[in-house]
Amino acid sequence: MTYGECFGEGKRELIQAGVAEAELDAGLLLEFVCRTDRGALLAHPERAVSPEEQGRYRELIRQRARRIPLQYLTGEQYFMGLPFQVDENVLIPRQDTEILAEEALRNLHDGMEILDLCTGSGCILISLLRYSNECRGVGTDLSGAALRVAEKNAERLLAREGESLSGQRGGSFAFLESNLYERVEGMFDMIVSNPPYIPTGQIPDLMPEVRDHEPRIALNGGGDGLAFYREIIADAGKHLKKGGMLLLEIGWDQAGAVSALMKDGGFVEVRVIRDYAGLDRVVTGVLGFGPF
Ligand code: GLN
Repeated sequence: MTYGECFGEGKRELIQAGVAEAELDAGLLLEFVCRTDRGALLAHPERAVSPEEQGRYRELIRQRARRIPLQYLTGEQYFMGLPFQVDENVLIPRQDTEILAEEALRNLHDGMEILDLCTGSGCILISLLRYSNECRGVGTDLSGAALRVAEKNAERLLAREGESLSGQRGGSFAFLESNLYERVEGMFDMIVSNPPYIPTGQIPDLMPEVRDHEPRIALNGGGDGLAFYREIIADAGKHLKKGGMLLLEIGWDQAGAVSALMKDGGFVEVRVIRDYAGLDRVVTGVLGFGPF
């Protein structure tokens, strides 16, 4: 079979299965199996695909048709320009979350200490360490399996002092199996989190890829979706220095509720930041010095 024929077959199967970006995904999976790039289909559609490659491609197409997310099949998702390894134990890093990482970076200074709650693949914390100097980061998650993914990503993406060719130094990191702050010690300059925030009752309405394949514990935010925000904000003062910043990713309709929780919790300069779709995506605040 030729490269072009394989692609046509894969595309048809994914369209039939109702995959939203069938053509794109069929192409990406073929490139993944044959170690080619975008140009291959245009330049060499007649290129032969070995029976072994065909077999692997068909198997991946079958899995994608079952709505397994593309990134779990290729094992990778870029975030902040960095290739993160992912598997079914972690939420796939979203582009929306880059809004949070970018805002954190604007407020991060050399040598700061950062706490990332519900770190998952580690994508937020690792990006912050990678693009800053001499910062120290702690990431926590309830899931030991997720932490193993985060640790692998950190080891791969954060070159240690002296090992880096580019001269770029990622800061030091530690990952902790912990229910939010439970096992966290010390005070931090910044706390970031993309906690689970989907209201339990809305989970059945999510896309099959998310609903059936991404970790439920990374999505389920309790009855009103706000359970994690309440806990994170209530105990923030035990681990966030006065004047330190808290940055939370939120669902599109949660800005009002989360801003109110932050103000009640002693935060000042509470701001809502939109994503590129124009939806409220991040709430930030600075822990005030006042008594509360
Ligand atoms: N943004 C994710 C989604 O759309 C939800 C992530 C989360 O709950 N933190 O499914």
